[in-house]
Amino acid sequence: MKIFVIGSGGREHALVWKLAQSPHATQMWCAPGNAGIAQERLAKNSSPVECVNIGAEDLPKLLAFAQASKIELTVVGPDNPLALGIVDLFQKNGLRVWGPNQKAAQFESSKTFSQNFMEKYGIPTARAGTFSDSVAAKKFAAALGGKCAVKADGLALGKGVLICANETEADRAIDEILVGKSFGAAGAAIVIQEFLEGMEISLHAICDGKTEKLFPTSQDHKRALDGDKGLNTGGVGNYSPTPFLSEAELKKVGDAILNPWLRGCAAEQIDFRGILFPGVMLTQNGPKILEFNARFGDPEAQVYLTRLENDLVELLDACVNGTLDKIELKWKPEASVCVVMASGGYPGSYAKGKIIHGLDDAAKLQGVKVFHAGTAQNGNQIVSNGGRVLGVTALGKDLKAAQTAAYAAVEKIRFDGAQFRRDIAAKALC
Ligand code: AMP
Repeated sequence: MKIFVIGSGGREHALVWKLAQSPHATQMWCAPGNAGIAQERLAKNSSPVECVNIGAEDLPKLLAFAQASKIELTVVGPDNPLALGIVDLFQKNGLRVWGPNQKAAQFESSKTFSQNFMEKYGIPTARAGTFSDSVAAKKFAAALGGKCAVKADGLALGKGVLICANETEADRAIDEILVGKSFGAAGAAIVIQEFLEGMEISLHAICDGKTEKLFPTSQDHKRALDGDKGLNTGGVGNYSPTPFLSEAELKKVGDAILNPWLRGCAAEQIDFRGILFPGVMLTQNGPKILEFNARFGDPEAQVYLTRLENDLVELLDACVNGTLDKIELKWKPEASVCVVMASGGYPGSYAKGKIIHGLDDAAKLQGVKVFHAGTAQNGNQIVSNGGRVLGVTALGKDLKAAQTAAYAAVEKIRFDGAQFRRDIAAKALC
């Protein structure tokens, strides 16, 4: 099968790596890809994965390439092309593509859509209101004592959520988004949620429109610095499984979210084929959804795909065909830990072009896979080319062993200004 992956981050490297292991994959491309993706080889015939210089949001060029190359399955990694309707466009042109269509991708592209859906179908979430008028929004925030999360409706590069501790902060956040338009059109409307306290986890479920299959738990690390301090990032570390839910509790939580979600999708004629990724707060009053994403998390994909035993081509194919009910998900019993190595200064401004040393030494360590994100090839050297540079991922017999292996690999890798957290998975081990 000729496969085309769209995206260039660590998530897409993990997707390419796992797809390339399938005997069904005969030729693969990735647009735009990165230096690590370009080093992958197909298990079936050792042919290289070819990176194609087309941006992940350039839909007409992606379509033309897929048609000219007779692609048999396109796999979409990031949220933006999904929100722009890449799946609808490819399907209209008779191409098989994995990911939710534009209507289904609204679970991520519109927080007001998601919040209204959750309330309509009884999915546990925070007390919330949706607003486009700042006066009404401030009144609602005041009723919550100002302790709330103010969220821009649309996609805002993961920066559209402002956490407020009091009324002054809430008023400022509301003005910033609705009046100051700091997120442009993405902030034409907002959701205000009550502030929820508890342990935050990531859930993933693969869905073919009728059937869903829940993944094990994982936990993201969003803040840049140790101890959950510093600025919010796109995610700088992850591990799976978490010890915060037993198998039985996970099933209960999954059912409480996914049963009404599937019922709602059927009622609203939403044909969701892809990954539903709810961010969940485990509160004293039970699990509550903070938000839905409509694709693999990054770096959740890195820990899930290193643990997944199924053939990923078969799994995604079943998802596209609507035959997920015939597949049983199988997971390695080992734990997986991913430590993101970022450019100095990330998530603020940072320099690019720093030479990365030690990648070969790290790759030799048992159970380690170094996924590339912001990297580029410069002559025969690999250099940094983005904020999140590498996702150093390791499997171990338990979380402690996986954490030790991941950090042993991190120690082998050097580039100027490299920054990473030293406490990924620590919450699970204390
Ligand atoms: P979101 O993009 O909606 O997941 O929000 C980004 C981050 O903000 C989440 O991962 C949480 O850490 C935090 N957050 C979002 N909503 C809430 C809430 N209602 N209460 C507490 N923290 C929240």
